[in-house]
Amino acid sequence: MSARIRFVLLGSGAVRNNPRRGGPAQILVVDDHVLMFDCGRSACTGLARAGVPAETVDRLLLTHLHFDHVTDVPYFVFVGWNNGRARPLRVYGPTGTAQFVERIVRPPFEQDITSRVGHGKDASLLDPDVVDVAAQGVVVEERGYRVSTIFTEHAGMPSLAYRVDVGDRRVVITGDGPPSPALTDFCRDSDLLVSECSGTAEFLAAQPWGAWHTNPQTLAAMATEANVQRVVIKHLVMEDITGDPRDSVRMGDAIREGYGGEVLVGEDGLSVDIT
Ligand SMILES: [Zn+2]
Ligand SMILES: [Zn+2]
Repeated sequence: MSARIRFVLLGSGAVRNNPRRGGPAQILVVDDHVLMFDCGRSACTGLARAGVPAETVDRLLLTHLHFDHVTDVPYFVFVGWNNGRARPLRVYGPTGTAQFVERIVRPPFEQDITSRVGHGKDASLLDPDVVDVAAQGVVVEERGYRVSTIFTEHAGMPSLAYRVDVGDRRVVITGDGPPSPALTDFCRDSDLLVSECSGTAEFLAAQPWGAWHTNPQTLAAMATEANVQRVVIKHLVMEDITGDPRDSVRMGDAIREGYGGEVLVGEDGLSVDIT
């Protein structure tokens, strides 16, 4: 019997404190195993809404260390520990992730840890195992899935996109950054591409950080070229600044003009079964 695969977008927003969109975070559930990608603002609330106890998630994969993608990491680590995590947590991320986790878990929470350990908590399952991904390619193959990474261009910082292969099914989850020929190859024949789409080309051209991101036309071109079956867009920044939520819907329409597959405009809790 082939594996059950479900994608759930926990947070469809980005940096701004949008009340309807949490920060970047998503999960891919492969049978009973949960792979979590990024851990932005309210990611753990998103897990709870999806019915996934944080302590059961033992793989967290970070795309890059911009705060919108990682700000819920301490809460995720501590609530899993406090609830009685059964298996060690392993965190994958770009160069710098080990140092980030080391700094954000123990030093700020020294009093908390001492207090809980003093009341009988076992400190041994607190610290995650962290893998700084220093090379592209397969980073883990286990439990019926294979996870690969590619380096991506984004804001001059180490950044990764992830691909999960389960048998002949393929899901790609990007972080931030514009499409490239290498990323297009990486996405080839995906059943699902979960991509950032921060704003329209015109909007992004007017932002000092606009070149760091993907717009509907570049995304449509990449998804078409790569023969992707379905696209989910996330990291919907534009409406944060224009104040018009329909801007995200219109970006979906703009993608459909250049791409014949299915396009889903992300919202928190959106789930997609990969059959
Ligand atoms: Zn971001
Ligand atoms: Zn970023």
